[in-house]
Amino acid sequence: MDGINQQALDGLRESLRGPVVAAGDAGYDEDRSIYNAMIDRRPAAIAGCVDVADVRAVLSFAQDIGLDLAVRGGGHSGPGLCLIDDGLTLDLTPMRWVHVDPQTRTARVGGGSLQGDLDHAAHAFGLATPTGTISTTGIGGLTLGGGHGHLTRRYGLTIDNLVSADVVLADGTFVTASESDHPDLFWALRGGGGNFGVVTSFTFRLHPVDTVGVGLTVWPIDHAREVLQWYRDFLPAAPDELSGFFALLTVPPGPPFPEPIHGQKVCGVVWCYTGDLEGDGLEKALTVVNEPGPPAFHFTSPMPYPALQSLFDGLMPKGLQWYWRGDFFDSIPDEAIGVHEQHGHNLPTGLSTMHLYPIDAATRQVGTDDTAWAYRHAVWSGVIAGIDPEPANAELIRQWCVDYWTDLHPHSMGGAYINFLGEQEGPDRVHGTYRDHYGRLAAIKHTYDPHNFFHANQNIPPATS
Ligand code: FAD
Repeated sequence: MDGINQQALDGLRESLRGPVVAAGDAGYDEDRSIYNAMIDRRPAAIAGCVDVADVRAVLSFAQDIGLDLAVRGGGHSGPGLCLIDDGLTLDLTPMRWVHVDPQTRTARVGGGSLQGDLDHAAHAFGLATPTGTISTTGIGGLTLGGGHGHLTRRYGLTIDNLVSADVVLADGTFVTASESDHPDLFWALRGGGGNFGVVTSFTFRLHPVDTVGVGLTVWPIDHAREVLQWYRDFLPAAPDELSGFFALLTVPPGPPFPEPIHGQKVCGVVWCYTGDLEGDGLEKALTVVNEPGPPAFHFTSPMPYPALQSLFDGLMPKGLQWYWRGDFFDSIPDEAIGVHEQHGHNLPTGLSTMHLYPIDAATRQVGTDDTAWAYRHAVWSGVIAGIDPEPANAELIRQWCVDYWTDLHPHSMGGAYINFLGEQEGPDRVHGTYRDHYGRLAAIKHTYDPHNFFHANQNIPPATS
């Protein structure tokens, strides 16, 4: 369908409290720009929703005139799933709010909120819950995919801390899903992505996390083999209070890194320590960093938790070109280390990187079949990300990412975190994410969205029988 006729557009504007921006309107190009600048899609209109009434009106409008619909939370998905050419984007951006209840240690979070909104509001009470590592990521997409970050070894995935979700279903029905209400939907929402409805608010359990110990350690890239051999043994045996994600990167040209190593390719670990900071807990936990060889740089400091959460925001602003692919790993054999060494030496641009996020420890306290998340026994969620500001380098970063992933994939568990799937990876990869849970997800999809109205996502089509 080409656009929306003026009369229909006027009707939509009258029925909503949120703004409607259509193709050709002032601000349209700004509104359709998302985090990953490699995505250039042109929806017919973007309809901002301020509340559940707006969400219901947009769903019914799209169905009445037969428009494809996409849902935008924080707009951070790598493949740009929140935009669909010639379709309608239901934009939850106006629903950015957080209510913290310090008595029950819970937070209710609007469906369009960003991670940083939750971190900020909860920190006022010395509380937090696990989310990702860049504060501008949307809570919506992150949570529905699973959500992992610095607090995951201590307190589990984001979904392991989800108490309930308010959802508008495809037929406009409004439900609250929890362990006791619509438990099948609640099971599917915890990892099944945006397939089941529009989540207008999430309620999370919070934990006492205030000031945390932060560490950055980097070693020359030539030591990547020794460092990875050490890291693969050290981290899984470390106490839950210590997390550290491994990275291959180029040292950014600024503090806290000393000038002589700016621009050097390195391997490194970003540490987060939630144990006792009164003594020298973090330093003691990290005395081991010399074991694989002397670091080129080692920094530790106590930090308010939201400061850690936004530490890398400046390095990764909106508007860069991104091409990424992921996989889960339960081990890092020497052959895989050889792949990391080879492609780490060939990082194509200054921002391109590979991360291994630890997802063991507390994540195992939830049963394998208790949520849609199908990799409770994985130790790392890996992502290879080609990143650069320059559109002319899009093919360079894409090719590096695909080559690296192709060589590494045989050493993986076979599937990837749904939020680290890239563009056009296809239905087999979605199957690979959910493994034995796929059939149950397709059956729940059939119950709640039998016509696959919510299909602008890593799609799970409804079961046919
Ligand atoms: P959007 O593009 O708005 O949405 C993504 C998908 O979720 C779409 O299908 C959309 O329809 C759906 N969706 C979003 N909100 C809702 C809602 N309220 N109701 C229904 N459907 C909804 N992930 C981690 O777990 N840990 C990390 O540390 C991490 N780091 C990241 C760093 C960067 C720089 C980036 C770009 C991503 C990172 N991610 C991480 C991945 C991130 O979780 C996904 O990109 C996620 O999809 C972003 O959610 P969003 O709401 O911002 O995205």
